[in-house]
Amino acid sequence: MALSRLATIPLELQEMASSELDPFDLLSLSHVSAYWRAFVLNDKRWAEWFSIITNTSDETLEEVLTRLNVLDMFPKRTLVYRCLLESCTVCGAYAQQLFIPHMKRVCDKCLPGDEFSIMPLSAALAKYDLRERELYGLLTLESVDPKRNSKRPMKLVSEAQAKKRSAVRKYGTEALLTAHLECKKTAARSTYTARSEDYRNAVSTRTALQEKGNLEAAEAVVLGHTGRKIPKAFPAYPPILLQSTRTVDRGAACFASLPLLVVGNTIVVDPCEDDDDEDEE
Ligand SMILES: [Zn+2]
Repeated sequence: MALSRLATIPLELQEMASSELDPFDLLSLSHVSAYWRAFVLNDKRWAEWFSIITNTSDETLEEVLTRLNVLDMFPKRTLVYRCLLESCTVCGAYAQQLFIPHMKRVCDKCLPGDEFSIMPLSAALAKYDLRERELYGLLTLESVDPKRNSKRPMKLVSEAQAKKRSAVRKYGTEALLTAHLECKKTAARSTYTARSEDYRNAVSTRTALQEKGNLEAAEAVVLGHTGRKIPKAFPAYPPILLQSTRTVDRGAACFASLPLLVVGNTIVVDPCEDDDDEDEE
């Protein structure tokens, strides 16, 4: 009631009054009406607050999100708010890190749970029989793995989101998804077995002809299922049958911000962090 009456006072006074508000108050104010929502979204301080969010290795949140190519995916006020909230969205305990694909705070205990597994995009597409365009509104992080030589970023997605938002949605229910995948795997297995057998047979026919000195006939041997000459490579193992063993470090999708404090109406980085740690010991 008191907040809605704010709209009737002159604009300069509104601005003065709102400049006394911290981000939590601003967010409450934004829920009052469409007018106040627009007013709060216009507050210049979101960008200012956003720019002070830094992790322990001095990398700012902006730099991390730019590196992962997802900076434009989240409004700055959401990011500021998530960094001010310090409780785990699963258990409520203190959580230092933001799990970027879900933009949620997650504590060290909850992070290893299934909900927060990340996998290469290609592996997720193969595992759930999806095409890239079927990943509805899914956030894709582009991460460069320093352990690999390639400078090309590896695309990572949240497995839980790829499954729930895209695969389950595409096939209807989780049970239908499982049935579809089982069906696909059975078909892929029998195709692979048949092609492998075809390949082996063609190669042994060719070898036999070569041993007899009939090189022309040996050269002319073709694969039964393609009608073409024997390729160098053995038939590829179907991606859907590959169990992705490559584990992706979940830390690559997390941002551990330094604690932020609201002092008056200003946000500052908590300068007492080290002292707190000493007290606990
Ligand atoms: Zn937790």
